[in-house]
Amino acid sequence: TDRIKMNTPLVEMDGDEMTRIIWSMIKENLIEPYVELKTEYYDLGLEKRNETDDKITVEAAEAIKKYGVGVKCATITPNADRMKEYELKEMWKSPNGTIRAILDGTVFRTPITVDSIKPFVKPWKKPITVARHAYGDIYKDVECRIEKAAKVELVVSDENGEIERKLVHNFDGPGVALGMHNIDKSIDSFARACFNYALDLKQDLWFAAKDTISKIYDHRFKDVFEEIYEAEYKEKYKSAGIEYFYTLIDDAIARVVKSEGGMVWACKNYDGDVMSDLVATAFGSLAMMTSVLVSPEGFYEYEAAHGTVQRHYYRHLEGEETSTNAMATIFAWSGALRKRGELDGIKELMSFADRLEEASIKTIEEGVMTKDLIELSEVEQKKSVNTEEFLLEIKSRLDAMMK
Ligand code: NAD
Repeated sequence: TDRIKMNTPLVEMDGDEMTRIIWSMIKENLIEPYVELKTEYYDLGLEKRNETDDKITVEAAEAIKKYGVGVKCATITPNADRMKEYELKEMWKSPNGTIRAILDGTVFRTPITVDSIKPFVKPWKKPITVARHAYGDIYKDVECRIEKAAKVELVVSDENGEIERKLVHNFDGPGVALGMHNIDKSIDSFARACFNYALDLKQDLWFAAKDTISKIYDHRFKDVFEEIYEAEYKEKYKSAGIEYFYTLIDDAIARVVKSEGGMVWACKNYDGDVMSDLVATAFGSLAMMTSVLVSPEGFYEYEAAHGTVQRHYYRHLEGEETSTNAMATIFAWSGALRKRGELDGIKELMSFADRLEEASIKTIEEGVMTKDLIELSEVEQKKSVNTEEFLLEIKSRLDAMMK
């Protein structure tokens, strides 16, 4: 039969270690037999980044701006050990950080749920997407250690001089202080990305802050969301049958735990940092967490939320068998292909993405899974398979569906 054709290339960003091995296996077994895959290939493997002085990462991000959709393999963020291991010229920055800085986006993380793997939180029936604001607050703060009695003030000034001065605290002994900020433009694009994403999924959007205590700072976040919602989304949400809901962060936690899930939960930077790990763990495994960066201009970058699975890679190099879970990387590909299909109006590509996901979930439901899931699955007859067997098991189910 004919393979599905594409118009616009996907920006393909290859990566490192075990996920790089999985990457080519997924393409060869699960995509290329069915799709005449068109990609613009960027090798973000650490060797190539070092060779190009990391220019390749910037070029990949620019390509996402040109074509609109990218799919990225996990990559090594260099540290001291990696400097030696790869004889690096410099300690190159995290590719994800570089790409995020260029696209200026919001990161949405969603667990892949399987009926036979029950979340640790009993009422959860549908996935919860955590949307994390990725700018400012304590991640760009300035901090002071106060050694002895001292006065700490917050001073605002412009080119004409002082505008405002506020006492933070009159210290009569040692302590600590910090100053942090955010900017309307960033809060604004965060809010818009969240409203659009929830509308896309046809799910409610929740946002929470602590505006009762933080009457200016957190209140600004609340106001920005409210203003944008009233002006631009209220009608659209009504016709989609979904709603925007604001509450205090402590109330949100209590409600999320008691909910069935199935919402997009917009989180301020720190809340998102903490809650995305909580949600991933409570749904079962980091290997089942997908991640997409959505820019305010509508560019999309899909990836797995996990890293390069280094431990498995060294075993693989020793010729030992590995059992690495490819689910999140498969879903990065299916997410990117579906979005490409949607933007280019290629229905076959969109339904292929659906089938690829169905076949992957069906494989686990039928008791065939990698080692990391064995303990979690409630299927009675289950067997753990190696990295390659898992992909071939998915392929046989996908083949049957594609006939
Ligand atoms: P990791 O996600 O690779 O592994 C963390 C733990 O989860 C390990 O115990 C691992 O065995 C397990 N795990 C993760 N994914 C799995 C999968 N698919 N199947 C089975 N088990 C899985 O994180 P790490 O070990 O902290 O980092 C390894 C490398 O990955 C580092 O060099 C780091 O810089 C990089 N990293 C990259 C990204 C990214 O590109 N988005 C994210 C995190 C870490």
